[in-house]
Amino acid sequence: MIDALAAISAEEGRVTRLYLTPEHRRAADLVGTWMRDAGLSVRMDNAGTMRGSRPAGRPGRSANKALLIGSHIDTVVDAGRYDGNLGVVAGLLALEELAARGVALPFGVDLLAFGDEEGVRFPVTLTSSSVAAGIFDPKTLDATDADGVTLRDALIAFGCDPARLKDDAYVRPGVLGYLEVHIEQGPVLEREKLPLASVSAIAGQSRHVVRIRGEAGHAGTVPMALRHDALAAAAELVLAAEAIARRDRRNALVATVGQIEVRPGAPNVIAAEARFSLDIRAANDEARRAAFQEFRLAARRADTTRHVVVGVETVMEKPVALCAPTLQKTIGSAIGRVTGKAAPNLMSGAGHDGQAMSQLTDFGMIFVRCRAGISHNPREFVTIDDMGAAVEALVATIEDMAAQESR
Ligand SMILES: [Zn+2]
Repeated sequence: MIDALAAISAEEGRVTRLYLTPEHRRAADLVGTWMRDAGLSVRMDNAGTMRGSRPAGRPGRSANKALLIGSHIDTVVDAGRYDGNLGVVAGLLALEELAARGVALPFGVDLLAFGDEEGVRFPVTLTSSSVAAGIFDPKTLDATDADGVTLRDALIAFGCDPARLKDDAYVRPGVLGYLEVHIEQGPVLEREKLPLASVSAIAGQSRHVVRIRGEAGHAGTVPMALRHDALAAAAELVLAAEAIARRDRRNALVATVGQIEVRPGAPNVIAAEARFSLDIRAANDEARRAAFQEFRLAARRADTTRHVVVGVETVMEKPVALCAPTLQKTIGSAIGRVTGKAAPNLMSGAGHDGQAMSQLTDFGMIFVRCRAGISHNPREFVTIDDMGAAVEALVATIEDMAAQESR
């Protein structure tokens, strides 16, 4: 199933499947076929999410509630095969296994294959899970892709009705929780020699743009003491961000400058302008904000010591999304039974659909070991054994939830 999905791509020889494209359509149709074969009733919602539903298998107080299980089938450009896709496949296999064992669940189940987790095509992310969670902002319908196509028009071309997105929001009392299997996308499980982990939280994140204005000058004639070098100031601030993050030992704080532009950009001209991105993430929102304030102070200092003008702008901020403690425990004990080893609790530094779903309901995640922690890369790899363990842990988690609901 992973191979079949990986074969659906915009590009020959590599996996690229962006939101609301013909490739997304083909992958959604394939997942829909699998869902139908597994006995689920299938529909596509107005955000392009495939939803496969199974009603409760027996009467009781939770019979009208649904457990949501999901992940995403969109990918980055030149992606790996497991990111997102594994979670949808694992959810499907878990439901098939439960049916094969004749388990009658006391609640319904909706399997969700989201289409926009990566946020590559449009400058927005988590569109499909935000719609399901009821937190979608209709203003983002005006966002455009690189070809100037709005999200609204792309949805209509996909067969969705943007005016009815609100109708596709789940309502809180009808939902039991949200579960997701996902590759770790980091190296911790491999280092610990463990196949699975229970996720404790998804890191809070902010993104900033730093602009530095100096003054262009002749590389040969302007003495060092009289320069307004925007790039040298940027270099100092890049290292300041790194030092601030390295000092933190408790909050999994990470700071990254991954993009920098310099003008005019000639070997014999002092840089007049530098602009760089700053991405800060942490397990604790206060620690993350404090780190940003510290960076701002460093920026203000560079202002005076380096005779440049530094501007810092925040373009995105998402708070920490905590996994529900009860689900963390249920998942942890399920992993323990399946693997025979204690399950670690890992924080996710990467964003996931659970961030949106956490606004709707309790959520829990199972992380799966991936080779060398490599992800967003065609070299992404997960062993069949580890994938099997993840499916078993998901089955065990659902069985435990069923037992808790029947109590
Ligand atoms: Zn993903």
